[in-house]
Amino acid sequence: MPQREMPLPTALDPCGRTFGPEEREAVLRVLDSGVLCGAFGRETRSLEAEMAALYGRAEAVSCSSGTAALHLAVAAAGVGPGDEVVTTPLSDFGTVAPVVAQGARPVFADVRADDGNLDPDAVEAAVTPRTKAVIAVHLFGGAADTVRLREICDRHGLLLIEDCAQAWLGEDPAGPPGRLLGTAGDIACFSLQQYKHITAGDGGLAVTDDADLARRMRLFMDKGWDRSEGRIHRTMGLNYRMTELVAAVARAQLARLPGLLTRRRTSAGRLAGAVAEGAVPGVRLATASGTPYEGHAWWVVPLLVDDNARAAKALDALGVPALPGYLERPLYANPALAGHPPGLCPRAERLIDRTLLVLPWNEGYTTADADRVAGALRKAATA
Ligand SMILES: *Cc1c(COP(=O)(O)O)cnc(C)c1O
Repeated sequence: MPQREMPLPTALDPCGRTFGPEEREAVLRVLDSGVLCGAFGRETRSLEAEMAALYGRAEAVSCSSGTAALHLAVAAAGVGPGDEVVTTPLSDFGTVAPVVAQGARPVFADVRADDGNLDPDAVEAAVTPRTKAVIAVHLFGGAADTVRLREICDRHGLLLIEDCAQAWLGEDPAGPPGRLLGTAGDIACFSLQQYKHITAGDGGLAVTDDADLARRMRLFMDKGWDRSEGRIHRTMGLNYRMTELVAAVARAQLARLPGLLTRRRTSAGRLAGAVAEGAVPGVRLATASGTPYEGHAWWVVPLLVDDNARAAKALDALGVPALPGYLERPLYANPALAGHPPGLCPRAERLIDRTLLVLPWNEGYTTADADRVAGALRKAATA
């Protein structure tokens, strides 16, 4: 008889998320105030101030999702019909949907084979006179090459938008010690969706140092309406407002973030150590050059294997959830984005079809869980 073990915590279990008296008090505080809409309450403004302070940026703009935050960013960047935005095919659909919503064209650049982050050479090759911006995703919590991407954007006069939805408080190994991912771009976008490092169900934040970009994002978030000057719609805008309930919970979560990240780094770092440098045959960490680094945000633990479908099946039989490929197909192969031939980004396609294996992770994983996952990987490798 196989041993029955406790299932690992997921982001849909109370034990895989961290909600306590602070979140409870936050919800009741808002209800008792009578004001639930972010346009009139104090929670959204406070959350923005706290987020800006945490990231050391001049401004943070709250909104209803990570996708909305990216829409604020591309709209503020002036992306419109005829424009192109270079980005990755290996990400959530929320990375590209805003580009399409603006009537612009996402141009997909291939990724690096070792960690699935954008290949700067491919980004440079994809730039045309129509390119307005680059959206770089810090995939799985590991750093994209901010130095080279920043340099390419500066040389071509492009805006750099960082998609930090999976990289809350991740650090940039290329920067000075402790430099956060989300501080190299003109704008950085974050998500508070259920599965992210911290959550309020849904929600988004965009940070920037540029007052003009911040103003345009704020207008786009609230129907182009600057409420300090009467009912005038200065720009096109949607209703992407964050509610007070979400903001209040997000503030409690933001306060927990450093502690939650330490827990992830402790457990995921232990697994990373156990699989690093060929310790498990046929398994490699999907990080830059296959090495763990301390600043990784470990949204998940990404691995490289020979046959991701087979490995996922073997792990599943051992009670360890694993996603082969992360996505079923690259973003450009979705029906919503017609017109891209297969083979457009061969490295991304190979990762999805063959080599990438993603282990879901959350703050509920203990070091004992990490050891159990490492044991399952060793067993699966020899199965
Ligand atoms: C989750 C995610 C998004 C979208 O965020 P939502 O809050 O779900 O809209 C965008 N980009 C990446 C990389 C994500 O992981």
